[in-house]
Amino acid sequence: MHPDRFVAMASVPLQFPELAAQILEDGVKRLGMRGVTMGGHINGEDPSLPKYDVFWARASEMGEVVFMHPGGAENIIREGAFRGRGARSKAPIPVIRELAKRLESHHVRVGEPKSGPIFRNDAGKPMDLNNLLNRTILPALNRCAACQESKAEHDKADHDFERDPSLPEWRGWHAFRRGLATNLYRLGVPDKTIQAILRHANVTTTQTCYIKTVSDDAKAAMEKLETLLASNRPVNSAAPLPDPSTLPVTIH
Ligand SMILES: [Zn+2]
Repeated sequence: MHPDRFVAMASVPLQFPELAAQILEDGVKRLGMRGVTMGGHINGEDPSLPKYDVFWARASEMGEVVFMHPGGAENIIREGAFRGRGARSKAPIPVIRELAKRLESHHVRVGEPKSGPIFRNDAGKPMDLNNLLNRTILPALNRCAACQESKAEHDKADHDFERDPSLPEWRGWHAFRRGLATNLYRLGVPDKTIQAILRHANVTTTQTCYIKTVSDDAKAAMEKLETLLASNRPVNSAAPLPDPSTLPVTIH
């Protein structure tokens, strides 16, 4: 044989995405395979569905070639077949009225463009969020308690910079989204709706990574329950309290 001229590629059972990922890894690491071949669909399903993420992530991690054979795969030669997550990412984003007003005036200020990013740099490309963070957000949040000057401008002052603790602290972009999810959850918005607002492919992501069940919520719920039980209970009654597990309790 000619190992310098022929290489083997794995064929994996994509209908079981996790297993397919394991077999790919085994094929590459143990058997020296150089990639994987697949069809354009998996039993008629788009390979870009979230359930196949585990496979794509492993293939990307291993840095191996994925060869996709288009024969017989009507779903990948039809119009819009590769829309993947794109359709979801183009979905409208719900915003509160105050924000909508500000976005409208921003739109007018930048010359009412018909397409392209809402927040753009001078070259018309999407604004770099880290620039926004360093130039605008952090200077606004890190101000001196004594003179309200931002940290970068503070070297001329006659006293040491001391951060104003009444200003919120920056906790990263991810915290923005997590905070939104948690707040919506506390307002009683259903998980599915929060998922749609955050545009997660899978509601489990929303539930496990974004919604922080605040212990205060649980505490407040138990206090409510306590009040309810106390108000329904005749004074000096020997009657036992109802079993809490039979009561309709919600911590939303
Ligand atoms: Zn100061």
